[in-house]
Amino acid sequence: MIEIKAVRKSFGAIEVIRGINLTIERGEVLCLIGASGSGKSTLLQCINSLEPIQGGQIVVDGIDVHGKSTDLNKLRQKLGIVFQQYNAFPHLTALENVALAPRVVKKMPRAQALELAREHLDYVGLGARADLRPAKLSGGQQQRLAIARALAMKPDYMLFDEVTSALDPELVGEVLDTMRNLKATGMTMIVVTHDIAFARESGDRVAFFDRGTLCEVGPAKQVINEPREERTRQFLQRVL
Ligand code: ADP
Ligand code: MG
Repeated sequence: MIEIKAVRKSFGAIEVIRGINLTIERGEVLCLIGASGSGKSTLLQCINSLEPIQGGQIVVDGIDVHGKSTDLNKLRQKLGIVFQQYNAFPHLTALENVALAPRVVKKMPRAQALELAREHLDYVGLGARADLRPAKLSGGQQQRLAIARALAMKPDYMLFDEVTSALDPELVGEVLDTMRNLKATGMTMIVVTHDIAFARESGDRVAFFDRGTLCEVGPAKQVINEPREERTRQFLQRVL
């Protein structure tokens, strides 16, 4: 489980996360929604210890994320992250991209890593594209490749940061399908998304972020269909 306790985060004098409390249970899909600039990406970066925090605590399966003696490799192996922008290595094939981290980080023998990579490419529907470089893949395929790369490290949690926002509309569905399949396997997921329909249908809970605070958290359908907070209602009116 991921526990976010009274977390504060500033960039210089500007506080962008202002005391957030949130617990993500194993097997849960939590969707984070909120206006651009409200702090959603920053929170994901804090969970992964890519950013320090100025107050509070984040605990992942008992590991104090920002603790002085925390093993960051161990922490990050628990957390798979997929971003909006594609980040595959351009000179490697899709297969080599997926095999890379298991080989380098987990010191897996090459043949075993390639076999694992093939399984994960099959899982995201890219088995037939294994030998292509990322530039030869569509945006939707590149995002599925990014998901396969993250999954190959056998994470306990998957964090998604607007992974469909840069895609042409016709490519969004294949990526969301992959995420729905992952949910069906019981993967714990935190999904930052502008896709309100996805949040309503695939989220267990939805958390609405407003200027660095958590304005409303609850069952997905309740938050989207019958928000309790006026600010949630106004946000949903703007984006729906
Ligand atoms: P969201 O993902 O909800 O759009 P972000 O977490 O990216 O929001 O940003 C929250 C706020 O923090 C914004 O005002 C943004 O400009 C600021 N911010 C994000 N990253 C940095 C950074 N590295 N340095 C300074 N300010 C940043
Ligand atoms: Mg963001």
